[in-house]
Amino acid sequence: MRTGEAALVDPGDEAPKILKRLEALHTPQGAPIRVKYLLQTHGHLDHIGASRSVKEGRPEAPRILLHRGDEPLYLNLLEQGRIFGLSYDSPLPLDGYLEDGQDLRVGDLKLSVIHTPGHSPGSVCLRLHEDSSAGTSETLYSGDTLFQGSVGRTDLWGADQDQMFSSIKRRILTLDDDTLVCPGHGPDTRVGVEKRSNPFLT
Ligand SMILES: [Zn+2]
Ligand SMILES: [Zn+2]
Repeated sequence: MRTGEAALVDPGDEAPKILKRLEALHTPQGAPIRVKYLLQTHGHLDHIGASRSVKEGRPEAPRILLHRGDEPLYLNLLEQGRIFGLSYDSPLPLDGYLEDGQDLRVGDLKLSVIHTPGHSPGSVCLRLHEDSSAGTSETLYSGDTLFQGSVGRTDLWGADQDQMFSSIKRRILTLDDDTLVCPGHGPDTRVGVEKRSNPFLT
C-alpha cells in the first residue's frame, strides 16, 4: 500500500464488489492503487470466476497468473460452471505462469510461489514476507490445500490425496510455526496450530 502497487489473490466471484473496493483504495498520498497481478492459487471456478471481469474493469489490466498444471481447469471454466448450473464468460488467456520458487515483487513486498500439488495438479501457496518496524511476519495464502482444522478435497479432476499430504508436510508444515495461514475458505490459522491440532495431520 505504501507504493500503491497491489496484487489480488483468487478473484472467485462478485467482481463488481471487488472493483468497487479497489477503487476505494488509495496510497497515503491519495494516489489510486495499481493492481499488478491477479494471482490464482488454482483453477477451480470459485478461485478464478471473477478474473476476467476484474481485469477488464481495471485500467491497468492486471496480469492473470496461474500454475501451468491447472491451465486445463482454467480453460474449462464454462464446463466447471455447467456442473454447478452457473454461467461464466469464457476466461481470458493467461498472462503468465506461477512456478515453484518464483518470487513476485509487488511494491516493496515479496511473494514467493510454493507449488503444492494434490488438491489439483497446479495448486500453489503464496508466501508473503513482510518487514516492518514491528518486525518481520510471514503469511501463507494456502488456497484449498490447507484449512483451519481441515485439508483440501481430493475427489475432483486431477486431484491426488497422497500428493496433497506430501505437499502439506514437506512444503507447509516446515514453515515457521508463527506463519499466518489464510485459506481459500474459512478462518485464518497458524502453521504451528495446524501441526499440533489438525485431525488430518496428527
Ligand atoms: Zn479448489
Ligand atoms: Zn475453493
